[in-house]
This record gives sequence, structure tokens and C-alpha cells, in this order.
Amino acid sequence: MNFEDKEISNHRLEPEGGVLYVVGTPIGHLGDLSPRAESILRSVSAIACEDTRHSGKLLKRVGAKAPLFSFYEHNTQSRLSQFLELLQNGDSLALISDAGLPGISDPGEKLVKAARESGHDVICIPGPCAATTALVSSGLPCHRFCFEGFLPSKGNGRKKILIQIAKETRTTVIYEAPHRLIKLLKELVEVCGEQRPLQVSRELTKRHEEHIGATTGAALRYFTTQKPIGEFTLVLGGAPEEKSPLYTNSELIDEMKELINNGSSATEAARNVAKKSSYSRRFLYSLLHQTNIRHDS
Ligand code: SAM
Repeated sequence: MNFEDKEISNHRLEPEGGVLYVVGTPIGHLGDLSPRAESILRSVSAIACEDTRHSGKLLKRVGAKAPLFSFYEHNTQSRLSQFLELLQNGDSLALISDAGLPGISDPGEKLVKAARESGHDVICIPGPCAATTALVSSGLPCHRFCFEGFLPSKGNGRKKILIQIAKETRTTVIYEAPHRLIKLLKELVEVCGEQRPLQVSRELTKRHEEHIGATTGAALRYFTTQKPIGEFTLVLGGAPEEKSPLYTNSELIDEMKELINNGSSATEAARNVAKKSSYSRRFLYSLLHQTNIRHDS
């Protein structure tokens, strides 16, 4: 047994009965399906997927033989009770989506909630996700970010979110369909300006992967000559933080008055307060002039 095998054998045996496995699958490159995901898909009692025909290809490739159940927005309610019954009977269930991580702009969330509420373990077999793949390859700040997924397609809901996104100081990740990309880029230019940092990731992990940016304006110009084809994830840089003043004018004046009362000249008081407040000495001196205190000698 080599080191890796030992590491793996330290973990619990999989799959276990009564457990829901949320399994990440490739967003393009089939090599991104992990050995653990393959093994779970080969050995669970049943598999829930969005589109049985679409997932059938991947499942055939890995030799998965478990019965497949379609699970999408419009049959969620009827399927939930069926899946809970399976888990209750001690079967193991894997949940996959057409691509990426189930639950991320894909069905899954409701099943996970229902399984947890019924006391079943839910274990995620992590895998590719377009949002995080685009984010970490964007060069934009990753330490804090928000995920918007698909924006509402029209109306006030869309306008409201666009305005919120424009003000957001964290990096924002957005999913968009190719036929709506240019409309979204125009809207982003309108609410964020032409210079907001943006990377548009196209066809991640696939043969024609590209990253187009580096600003809202540049991406819009690019796609007015290149028809958007394929799958797109946008990573938008945050709005600059608004600097809120740490001190009000009257607090600054009070500080300077105190120094003057304790014997400092106005110039010294302005210089000292400038150091701690980051306001310029000139500004502080002019504040003093506006007050009727006697200053400087
Ligand atoms: N659950 C998936 C995940 O974990 O990324 C997302 C599913 S959502 C229905 C599909 C959207 O994800 C696409 O319209 C696109 O915006 C984005 N996406 C998926 N695959 C992609 C890829 N290879 N390159 C760029 N974006 C992709």
C-alpha cells in the first residue's frame, strides 16, 4: 500500500446506505472527473440527474449501472418523496447535474435540504464549478467574492441587481447565456463605466477556452466583432471602496483647540492632527481659520 492508498483508507467506506452524495462532474474536460466521483457513481444504489440522456453518456463511460432518475425544476416535488424513501430504505443516492456542482445554478439545493431535514447525511464529492474556476483564473481579488449566478432576465428585478452589483466592492461572479452576453456587457458598461475590471471566461476547461478582458469596455468592444459562442462566466472587479471620513470637521477642530489650549501654536496643532487623521495640514489650518478661536503666535 503506498502513501496515497493509506491516506484514502483512513476515510470512511463509501458509499454508505442512507447517504446522499452530491457529486461534482466536469464542466468540459472529462479528465476532471475525480477517481472518487467515478467510484461513487459506480457503486451507489441510485443516481439522480437533470437529464438522463445527457448524463447517461458520462455514466456509461465510467461504468455506472445504477438506475437513473431525472430530477429537474418541474418534477422536484414528486421526486423528493421518492428520493427520501430510497434513503430511508438504506439505499445510497448520488446527485449529479448536467455539469459542475449540483446546487450551483442547478437543481440540488431542495434535495439536500430535505435529506438533511430527514436526518440523512449529505456528503459532497467536490468537483469542478465554473464560478470558482473563472474566479481563480481572473487575476481579480478572490479573498472575498459574491456569486450572482444568472441575473433575472428582465424587468425591475434585473435593474435592481445590476445597480447592487455596480456598488458591490467584492468581486462578483455572474453566469450568462451566449445570446444574452452582449446585452449584459452593455448594461455593465452603463452601470459600472467602461473601466471596471472584468474577465469574461469562455469555454472553461475545453479546447477553445479563452479569457477576454480586462475591462467592461474592452470586453464589449471584443464581442461586438466576435459572435459569443459557447459557455460564459463573467468575473467583475468590485467597486472602489468609498473612503468615509474617520473624523468630522468639528472633531478635528476640537482636537486642534485642545492642543492650542495646552500651549501648541496653530501650525503645530494642524501638523499634529494632520499626522493622525491623514487630512492635509493646509486643510486643517483652513478649518482653524473658519473658527473664531485665536490662533498662532
Ligand atoms: N452547476 C454548474 C457549475 O457548478 O458551474 C453551473 C450550471 S449553470 C446551469 C450553467 C452555466 O454555468 C453556463 O450557462 C455558464 O454561464 C456557466 N458555465 C458552465 N460551464 C462553463 C464553462 N465550461 N465555461 C464557462 N462557463 C461555464
